[in-house]
Formats: sequence, structure tokens, C-alpha cells
Amino acid sequence: MSLNSEPDQRGSSAASIPHWYGPDDEPISLVDGSGAYVYDEAENEYLDFLAQLYCVNAGHDDQRIIEKMTEQANRIPYVSSSKRNATRNELANRLADVAPDSLSDVFFSISGSEANESAIQIAREYTGSQKVLTRWRSYHGSTYGAAGLTGDPETRSVVERHAAVTGVGKFLPPLVHRSPFDGDTPEEIGRQAAEHLEFVIRNEGPDSIAAILTEPIAGTSGAYPAPPGYFERVRELCDEYDILLISDEVIAGFGRCGDWFGIQTEGVEPDMITFAKGVTSAYVPLAGVLASDEIGDWLNETGIEVGQTFAGHPIGCAAGLGAMDAYEDGLIDNVRTLEGEFREGLEAIERRHEAVGSVHGRGFLWSVEFTDPETGEPYFDPRVDSGDNPAERVREIAAENGVLFGSGRPDVQVLLSPPLCIDSDQLEDAL
Ligand code: PLP
Repeated sequence: MSLNSEPDQRGSSAASIPHWYGPDDEPISLVDGSGAYVYDEAENEYLDFLAQLYCVNAGHDDQRIIEKMTEQANRIPYVSSSKRNATRNELANRLADVAPDSLSDVFFSISGSEANESAIQIAREYTGSQKVLTRWRSYHGSTYGAAGLTGDPETRSVVERHAAVTGVGKFLPPLVHRSPFDGDTPEEIGRQAAEHLEFVIRNEGPDSIAAILTEPIAGTSGAYPAPPGYFERVRELCDEYDILLISDEVIAGFGRCGDWFGIQTEGVEPDMITFAKGVTSAYVPLAGVLASDEIGDWLNETGIEVGQTFAGHPIGCAAGLGAMDAYEDGLIDNVRTLEGEFREGLEAIERRHEAVGSVHGRGFLWSVEFTDPETGEPYFDPRVDSGDNPAERVREIAAENGVLFGSGRPDVQVLLSPPLCIDSDQLEDAL
């Protein structure tokens, strides 16, 4: 937090008015962008291998998006979320066209956190049950309710201090690397993880559970995909015990993992999808919930309010139409084309460097974890250690050499999540 010491326009000292300029130790101030590159004030170029926050999926200056936003701003910039608007309707229809068949209705919101809160609100009202199950090592947002859904040890203290959301149970993630389960194969671990989930459901009381909310592939907590068969079993459990399955696609959606939505890769149809980030390629905030016909009809009949003033903002919806054009015009195909090269390049790095404990991910969302070769444990535990964290050093050195990576939680990982428009040479440069 920096305080502006310049006098403000009213002539008084602005020392009492805090202006947030970003983290004090962040050396780069970005002012321009083009394709997969961003530029700082000194005109240094960086390959943005993080797409800022896993969200600028179409790259930094996609004219298809900018033109649609401009056109909308020139017609009518804002229409209340309680009125009909053609741009909003068109985006809702296009989202339903690419979503799993079971999902046809869209409720817009503003951020991923709010989309998750809306989905939970809908699930609780619709089922009449109160509990929601989410995974440890998950991230679902930072607003009061969404932080309560998140299974990230670093945000736990906030949740415990404020007890923002009650009725959230946690279950273990189906991790294959440093797994809490002892199966010899990913499939066996997947089976054990699903058995554990059933144990949690039965002990929480199936009738008390409204929904299971989960990322189809974990994002900030390490880009780990589920073992084969895991999600099919989760779907079966939800059917068996009459629980809604909500897929949090805030990172995994919009081509990042090779399909429109991450859960489609698993061949499973959820009852709701929450989305944000990539829907507009982050050109302007927009988020939402995709739900089934039945849920949509029921919401219309009951008139339960889950919207916000800026939900489904027309300029956001226009940006969404431009972004969907870009994804359809080859960006998702590009992920499928380069995914093998991405995987092989990272696996070669894992073989070459003994401090790289594992690489995991899918599509254009990958994580590299640094572990001590002697113990197989992470070099550094941010909750215990201070000092040099190898993952942090790698990110710093990469930035000094013109490539931006992200950090995962726990912070022993480097996350790679480039815009979907990168080419093979840019991929090779970053690796
Ligand atoms: N869900 C997931 C999987 C996320 O990764 C994030 C943000 O990174 C969120 C929800 C919260 O989205 P937002 O930051 O737009 O509130």
C-alpha cells in the first residue's frame, strides 16, 4: 500500500487519501500489450505466460473484442439487469450452445467469486438443503461467501475469523502427486478419492447436502487434473444421493484446458457451471452461472433474486461475443495443437532438472513444482520457512529475462497459463 504524497486537485495534502498502486515490491508497471506480449513503462517486452491472471485468453489487443465493446458503448452502454437486452441475450444463447447439453440458462454476475456465491444461493434454495461440499486445495474466490467455499489453507484464517459461510464441508482432492491416498496408479487413487467423498457425504448426511462445488482441474492450487474416471464417479454419487454438481470453470473455461469447459474433457455433465475471467478474455469484468432448464424455470417462477446492478453489463456481454468469435476462430484449436508440445517440453525439463519434482496440467494450464530430490518434499514451506523460495527465484529470473510466470498455492510452484494465441516459437522461448 502506498500513500500518495502529492497534493491532490483540491489543493490539500493527499497524505490522508490512500491510493493503491499495487504491491510495493512489484518492479514492473505494465502500460501496453499486444498478442501474447506486454510492455512496461521503459518499453521492455515480456512474454505474458500467465495471461495476467489466467484470463487474457485471446491476447492483449484482439480487435474482435475491442470493436464489439466500442459498438455497444456507442449504442447504449448500460441496460439494467432487470431489462431485456439483445447483446446479453445473444451471449446467453451462444454460451448455452457451447456448454454441456444439460445447461441452457444463464445468470450473469460480475466476478468469479460472485458467480460461485450465486450458484450456492441457487443450489440451497432449489434443493432446500444447506450444506455445500468443496475440496481442500481449491480456490473459489475472495468475497466473504466465496472465501468460505475455498479450501486453501492460506485463506482459512480469514474464514475462521469471520465465519462468513456456514454449512461448508471439505473433502480431500484426488491428488496423484504427493497424494493423501496410497493407490499405485492414478485410476486407483481416483477410486479411493471417490470412496472418500462418499464417506464424507454419508457422514455429513446426504439429505442435508445441496451441492458439491469443484474445479474440474485445480487452478491456482497447482493445475492438477483429476485421475481418469474420478469425475464419472463423482457424477454417479451426486445422482445417487440427489446432490447438485457445480463445476467452477472460472479458470478452466473458455479453451484454457482444450475444450470450452474443463468438465467436458471429463465427459461429465454438471448441474451448473460458474464462469468468469476468459468469458471476455478479461477485457472487462463479466461472470455468470450456467444452469439447467429446470433450475432456470424454477428461478423465474420463484423470483429469487441472485443478480447485481452490473451483472451482465452490456459492454461485458459485447466483449464476450468478441471473445467467443476469437475462440471459435482457431484459439481453442491452437490449444489442442500445441498441448502435446507443451507437455513434452515440460516433461523434458522435469527429466533434466532434479529439483523439478513434478509437472502437471492440461491444455494451456500447467504447474512446475520444485522439490528436494533427497526427500521428495517441497524445498520450501511458505507457512514455516523464510528466505529463498526456489519457485519465487525462478519467477524473478524469468521476469528479468522477459517472461512472466505465475505462482501457485502452496507457493512452491511456477504456474504457466499463456494466452491461447501463442505460437510454437513463443512456447519454446518460455520453456
Ligand atoms: N474460482 C476459481 C477457480 C478461480 O481461480 C478464481 C480466481 O482466480 C475465482 C473463482 C474467483 O474469481 P474472481 O477473482 O473473479 O472473483
